[in-house]
Amino acid sequence: MPERDTVTTTRLPAMLLRLVAATMLASLLIAPAGARLYGHIPYGEVAPATLVAAPPGFAVGQPCRLQPAVLGDLTRMIGAARAALPGSELRGISCYRTVMHQDRVFCEAGRAGSPCVDPASRAESVAPPGFSEHGTGYAIDFTARPESGCPDLDACFAMTAMGRWLIANATHYGFELSFPQGNAQGVTWEPWHWRWVGTSAAEPGARAARAVFARARSQFPARPRVPAMAVRVMAQPPVPVPVAGANEAGAALPAEPQPHSP
Ligand SMILES: [Zn+2]
Repeated sequence: MPERDTVTTTRLPAMLLRLVAATMLASLLIAPAGARLYGHIPYGEVAPATLVAAPPGFAVGQPCRLQPAVLGDLTRMIGAARAALPGSELRGISCYRTVMHQDRVFCEAGRAGSPCVDPASRAESVAPPGFSEHGTGYAIDFTARPESGCPDLDACFAMTAMGRWLIANATHYGFELSFPQGNAQGVTWEPWHWRWVGTSAAEPGARAARAVFARARSQFPARPRVPAMAVRVMAQPPVPVPVAGANEAGAALPAEPQPHSP
């Protein structure tokens, strides 16, 4: 048998298997327009040309590209984290992802040991392509360097100094935690995944970001989340002045019993 035929014959079953696997995955991932898939909300894919690079030194590994509106708050947050945690740097593992990239992250059809075999389980921790907040250019997976002993993209990040700092401070820079512990969306707790919505709707670019995440924010609120209205103390409340003859609740004290006259 000619060599060419031998190659064709031996490769055919594998190719067919890949084709069948890809077809099965495609059928599993088809959802009506606007419908959620395995709990995930559909998102469009922003045009890569509109994005900008994250501050130098921020990205770990692959380049980090973001919506331009995110850059100011992110830069301020990196500086604030540096000041609060000397020796530790806030870094980004993953920022904008194309749908094609998300497809590779979610599943590689036909690959041995592929999570495609059980996309529902896979979707608990990774959004299917077309359903990731990373496609919007507003989401970042954070980590810290040097490494703390907690692996990247692990729930233990919430217990690290940087993870705790983000939970306490990230909302002051317009970031909120998309998938908190026990979220009703059914997505795994991701203390590293934050989306930018601006500190207030008046911040440049915040309205557009909030429009993108309107459905997620109304149906599955982040925790911590950026409040709808910024709370601002306009004036110091008056300090209560103790009144003679009044107890702590302000009620008049009973009159002291007077000694009886002899
Ligand atoms: Zn993420």
